[in-house]
Parts: sequence; C-alpha cells; structure tokens
Amino acid sequence: MFVDTHCHLSFPEFDQDRHEVIERLKEAQVSVLIDPGVDVATSRKSIELASQVDFIYANVGLHPHEATQPVDECVFAELARLADSPKVVAIGEIGLDYHYPDYNRSAQHHAFREMLRLAQSLDMPVVIHCRDAWEDMLHILAEESHSGMRGVMHCFSGDVEIANACIRMGFKLSIPGTVTYKRSLLPDVIRSVALDDLLTETDAPYLAPVPWRGKRNEPAWVRLVTESIAHIREISLEEAAEAIARNTTELFRLPAS
Ligand SMILES: [Zn+2]
Ligand SMILES: [Zn+2]
Repeated sequence: MFVDTHCHLSFPEFDQDRHEVIERLKEAQVSVLIDPGVDVATSRKSIELASQVDFIYANVGLHPHEATQPVDECVFAELARLADSPKVVAIGEIGLDYHYPDYNRSAQHHAFREMLRLAQSLDMPVVIHCRDAWEDMLHILAEESHSGMRGVMHCFSGDVEIANACIRMGFKLSIPGTVTYKRSLLPDVIRSVALDDLLTETDAPYLAPVPWRGKRNEPAWVRLVTESIAHIREISLEEAAEAIARNTTELFRLPAS
C-alpha cells in the first residue's frame, strides 16, 4: 500500500539489522522499496539486495558528490553494464549539488549529462538529486531532454514555481520526511500540484521525519510522509496511498502487484 521510492537500505547503516528493517516494512504495509546507487560499489549492492527481496528494486547511479574530479570513462562503462541487471528500474541517483563550497561544477555537469544519456539510451526513468542548483539543473535538462524523458526529482526541495517547471519537463516530485518539519515549503507545493505528480520516499538512513528527526531514518516511516500528504490535500490516507502507489508503478514500470 505505501511506497518508499528512495531508500538506501543497502548502505552500511543497515548492516546490523537489515532483516528486521525489512520485517517492519512488511508490517507497515510498504509494498515497494527502491534502493538507489550513488557510485559503482553501491549500485552493485543495490542490485544484490533487490535480487534477494521481491518488493525491492534497484537503481544504478552516480551521485554528484562522487564527481569531485572528472569521472573516469570506465566508471560510466561499468554503470552502463550494471544498468542491464535484473530489477534495475531507473538511473539514479544522479544530478547536481552545490551545497558544499568545494564542489566541482564542470565534473558534476559532465557526469550528470553522461548519466542522462545512458538513461535515454536505455529508455529508463531518471532519479534526480538537486540541491542548491536549480538554475543549472533546469538548463541542462532542457538541453538534454528528448520527447518521452521521464523521472523524478527525489527529495524535492524547490518552491511552487520550480515544481511546475519540473512537472512540465515530465518529472514527478518525490516528497521526503522533511515535509513534517516546521519551516518546510513542501505543503504549498503539495497543495498546488496534481496528486498524480507526487511520489513518497524516506531517503533513509537520512532525514527522519518528526517525531524521529535526528535519528536514523527507517523506510517504514514512509507512512508518515503519506499521512502528511493526505492531511495537506484533505483527502483520505487510502486515497493518497493508492494514487502514489499507482504513480510509482507507472513511472518505474513495475510489475502489477
Ligand atoms: Zn539525494
Ligand atoms: Zn539518496
């Protein structure tokens, strides 16, 4: 019923109790979890985890934080090879992140464009990470875009205007646990777009929702994100959960459950 479209369950933070976390997911009626990679090693781990659990799917990606210097061409070749593995449903996470001052803009741009082209060549959706880089993000997407480009702005952090620009380009917005934080801009965004444009995620182990802010996040808590969306849009939890599950199945072309 609930879906976590972005959770790093294969990260070492879950090595001690991954089995219990998966059991709690089942109890919480989470029916889909998508685990994104951030480089070659984590993409491999994501594929391995997805091969073990039927409702977990993998993404192959290269996070902008990995592009501190020009990325070697053999990395792109290996990621392309991995993208062909079973249960890989998208290319991600990829994108731009200018949050920390020492970022390498040109290396990020090159890596992002290469990964966008890989996704297009495979006809796969993209899972985009964008932090403090919206102007360049929209510019690059406009240049690299072709008809039928689709994907999601994971952990969406923009305002209503940026939200609409992303939706016009064929993207959905994934809402994280930060929607429960006091000063979040997300309620305005959630009210102003169509329910069909929204997905839910935790980005666990990061960004735990209230009342667990600051703790290790847990994918079962995606229910709290869905509850927030239902509350903000003044619809039932069931209606919100059903629409978001349907949006997820369509975007990632998941088998009907
Ligand atoms: Zn991210
Ligand atoms: Zn992430």
